Amino acid sequence: MSTTPSHTPSTTPPTGRTGTVTVLRDVRPWGGERSDLHVADGVITAVVPHDPAARAVGTPGSTDADTAPDAGVVEGNGLLALPGLVNAHAHVDKSWWGKPWVSYGGEPGTQGRIAHERAHRDELGIPGVDVTLAVLRESVRTGTTAVRSHVDVDLGVGLRGIAVVREAAAALGGAVHVEIVAFPQDGVLRRPGVLDLLDQAAAAGAEHIGGLDPASIDRDPVGQLDGLFAIAERHGVGIDVHLHDGGELGAFQIELMIDRTVRAGLQGKVNVAHGFAVGQLAGARQADLVAAMGEAGISMTTVAPIGAAPLPLHALRAAGVPVGLGTDGIRDLWSPYGTGDLLTLTTQLARLSGFRRDEDLVTAARIASADAARFVGREVHDLVVGAPADVVLVDAQNVPDAVVRAPRRALVVAAGRVVARDGEVLV
Ligand SMILES: [Zn+2]
Repeated sequence: MSTTPSHTPSTTPPTGRTGTVTVLRDVRPWGGERSDLHVADGVITAVVPHDPAARAVGTPGSTDADTAPDAGVVEGNGLLALPGLVNAHAHVDKSWWGKPWVSYGGEPGTQGRIAHERAHRDELGIPGVDVTLAVLRESVRTGTTAVRSHVDVDLGVGLRGIAVVREAAAALGGAVHVEIVAFPQDGVLRRPGVLDLLDQAAAAGAEHIGGLDPASIDRDPVGQLDGLFAIAERHGVGIDVHLHDGGELGAFQIELMIDRTVRAGLQGKVNVAHGFAVGQLAGARQADLVAAMGEAGISMTTVAPIGAAPLPLHALRAAGVPVGLGTDGIRDLWSPYGTGDLLTLTTQLARLSGFRRDEDLVTAARIASADAARFVGREVHDLVVGAPADVVLVDAQNVPDAVVRAPRRALVVAAGRVVARDGEVLV
């Protein structure tokens, strides 16, 4: 049994001003010893043992919190600290969060949802800055500080969605870091002109270009992937392909991606989203594919879907295949489900994966935060010196307790700024 530092369950919320943080006092990084995190210019500059003798400005009873020169000292009251949560697969351009209820309609299946969305998005103002802001603010409220969002690029909206998401993210002033995948939701080769749009998006600064079921949507897996890899080579952007195709059809397309990744020298820049096939394959077939993905530096993102074969998380990580966790769509024309709360989704991932042991539950938390750094273009995303000061505080005994219970986010700090407190977003 592992030892857990003593923790007095606290209902006292963290105190101190909102705004810039210089010291986040008395927190337990990853459930460890009580520590003080020092912050400058949005970056963690020191992690030192907590000094209980030093009184924080802004503790209850203090009247000078708003005027003292060290008003950036924020009291954590011994709460558990995790890195800001990383949503590695979102669609923040297409949510109707904050709008009146939209009943599910249209046909099921990928093509059915694509058609339904194209028919009704305009009447909901999608893509629009207001809806994107609403879903990003809700993400911040629940502790997400970095997002990789797919953004629809098609013949109808062109690149407008990317501009919308950039504008919404900028309006939040760094409360959430957003990376863009220019996403051909309606297909690539079957819609002449879309490859050009992806090329323009990459040239204009999109960090990644997407793809979608090269076999079942375009019915030309080699053609779609060759087109995507040519753009990635030309502009140095990443590739992030939605792959719902299962079994051997999915595995075949992953093999095509492995070949092209190695040939183009794009190791570390290619991601398979969903990749249900990996969970469906068995035995040596699965092990060989996972090993080949690891050697090619290909990553995976999952949305912890109910009803799909779970990804072999331990085997993937052991083979050097980074795995990220994402919400996928949040309350959109594809599905009414989703809240954007990545910690709740971490509970779901752990549960679906059969995780019960402490070390496995900690792995789930790492997948949702520190280990997802590369999905949002970061070298490091953790509670360590040199990392962005993105921190979430929760009232939990330890990390496993936080994962299984997903308690309210007591405080959210992003880039060294308090952005949410007690379940209320401040930006
Ligand atoms: Zn998706």
